[in-house]
Amino acid sequence: MIKETVVSGIRSTGKLHIGNYYGAVKNFVQMQHEYNCYFFIADLHSLTTHPTPQDLHGNIKQVLVEYLACGIDPETTTIYIQSDVPEVSELYLYLNMNAYLGELERATSFKDKVRANPDNVNAGLLTYPVLMAADILIHRATKVPVGKDQEQHLEMARTFGNRFNRLYSNEYFPEPYAFSYSNNLVKVPGLDGKGKMGKSEGEGNAVYLSDSPEVIRKKVSRAVTDSGPTAENQDKPEAIQNLFDLMKIVSSADTLAHFEEQYNKMAIRYGDFKKQLAEDMIVTTAPMRERINEIAADTAYLRQVAKHGALKARESAQKTIREVREIIGFKSF
Ligand code: AMP
Repeated sequence: MIKETVVSGIRSTGKLHIGNYYGAVKNFVQMQHEYNCYFFIADLHSLTTHPTPQDLHGNIKQVLVEYLACGIDPETTTIYIQSDVPEVSELYLYLNMNAYLGELERATSFKDKVRANPDNVNAGLLTYPVLMAADILIHRATKVPVGKDQEQHLEMARTFGNRFNRLYSNEYFPEPYAFSYSNNLVKVPGLDGKGKMGKSEGEGNAVYLSDSPEVIRKKVSRAVTDSGPTAENQDKPEAIQNLFDLMKIVSSADTLAHFEEQYNKMAIRYGDFKKQLAEDMIVTTAPMRERINEIAADTAYLRQVAKHGALKARESAQKTIREVREIIGFKSF
């Protein structure tokens, strides 16, 4: 039986936080043995924020190391660096020819980025979803394990693939869908009481897989709370709900039920609640944290993984580009 193809990736813009892990990587690690899996480090995407040449390679290495530490197995998954596969850039160019300004400008993540960095609204940022579509369509993948924040980008990837199919009257690209074993896509909240956990959401919002237990304790102890419930069984304000949502992810059902009950009875002590949350975060991230340093020190292994991955990814990508060129009508003389 032919296995379905799965693609997932991550920008090489910094350390991985537990939002990345529970939103995307954990699913991917589970999928490795069931599907034909490709995993890449999106270094081309990271260029929208202009890393220095000195920083670029170190960032890529860090993400590669942390993903291997999470359990991505280079024996079953093709793991590669995006810029090692130039066919992705070629497909991006073709897809750009039928991606329209209006739809790109309407993308939520583009609008968010414009708001956050009004001085750096470059074309790469605008066409970010096209490059993401190329990443997925280059392997003709159908499943993409991502967090809730990427749902719209997946819809755009389907739009671009379908548009290509219609333009050339064929069924070449299958439709890729966001995937999570839990059926609902995950949104891991941050510690600042506002929105999702993210790298660019400000200091203290994110807990990184590489954070030491002391750092995790400190960050969680500083998480935003309030002065406590004022009525029994009341709805929780966003900041408190976020901490409960985090507890749901890292703690046992019994622990969660205990603090829910305390909250509902107005007997909760946020100090105890946060202590428990921090300890459970430390326990769930410990296996990854321990492997990070070990893998980072093994340069020969990393080189071999990246080289082997690039070869395998290019094989698949070259096949797609050959077929796409033929469909578009390029012919050799
Ligand atoms: P990024 O860090 O934005 O490059 O995202 C990489 C992957 O992690 C994507 O699949 C995102 O959907 C996922 N991700 C990032 N932040 C979160 C979050 N707070 N909750 C769930 N998934 C997330």
